[in-house]
Amino acid sequence: MSEKTALVTGAARGIGLATTKLFMEQGWRVAMVDRDGEALAAAAAGLNEASPFEYDVSMPEQVDEMAQEVRKGFGRIDAVVNNAGVADFGPIEETGFDRWRRIMATNLDGVFLVSQACIPALRETRGALVNIASISGLRASTLRVAYGTSKAAVIQLTKQQAAELGEYGIRANCVCPGPVRTKLAMAVHTPDIIASYHDAIPLNRYGSEREIAEVITFLCSDRASYVTGQIIASDGGFESTGVGLPALRG
Ligand code: NAD
Repeated sequence: MSEKTALVTGAARGIGLATTKLFMEQGWRVAMVDRDGEALAAAAAGLNEASPFEYDVSMPEQVDEMAQEVRKGFGRIDAVVNNAGVADFGPIEETGFDRWRRIMATNLDGVFLVSQACIPALRETRGALVNIASISGLRASTLRVAYGTSKAAVIQLTKQQAAELGEYGIRANCVCPGPVRTKLAMAVHTPDIIASYHDAIPLNRYGSEREIAEVITFLCSDRASYVTGQIIASDGGFESTGVGLPALRG
């Protein structure tokens, strides 16, 4: 039981599944956590070094049981990737408390709960936390009052974790993906939004799941052993750039 183990939430598809596969290529075993049992079982089938754990990260009782089961199954946890997230965009005046809570429950409460439940295991391995926020947590935009605020909170939560957990040798970092064509993004990215992203991104394209996974697995690895409390955008240059790109390209 000496192989390193990563716990990845939201692992049934998208960025979480790509991260699972890259960890396995790098010799890790993976506990794949997702609340969509059917998609999770299909994703995990055929992955030799991964096991599915059907749990909802927004439910405190489920999260405690999940952490225990993963530890029982794998014997150790070396990295936790808090990737499960939901997107639901709308104007402030149409964002009822239900929608606000639904987004906060997974995107913010879930990161807090899963991280906290895994601290005992991460203390044993001097392991790593990587939280997935978004460029929507770095820069405000329309329709993202709940989503963007939840992601900005994840950025601050990561810094709190790094400050407090460093004494146990636990590192905490945050990845802010730019747009990636996953199910989550395609549900909320209209043709207008897609065109605006292309205009605003120096690399002039969406990213891939794999490009985000590369940054996540690096931060979990020993190669990042002196990196903690950092917020890293994997976004084609979106965050660092102001207005004017379309004019420059023209
Ligand atoms: P996705 O919708 O393809 O996958 C998300 C997975 O999380 C799904 O399998 C879903 O079942 C699972 N999930 C959702 N809520 C859960 C819960 N409460 N408990 C357990 N599992 C849950 O999404 P994705 O695009 O791969 O996004 C992954 C992360 O990256 C999210 O946090 C998202 O906010 C962030 N992100 C995505 C983009 C993008 O453009 N795709 C951009 C920035 C940030």
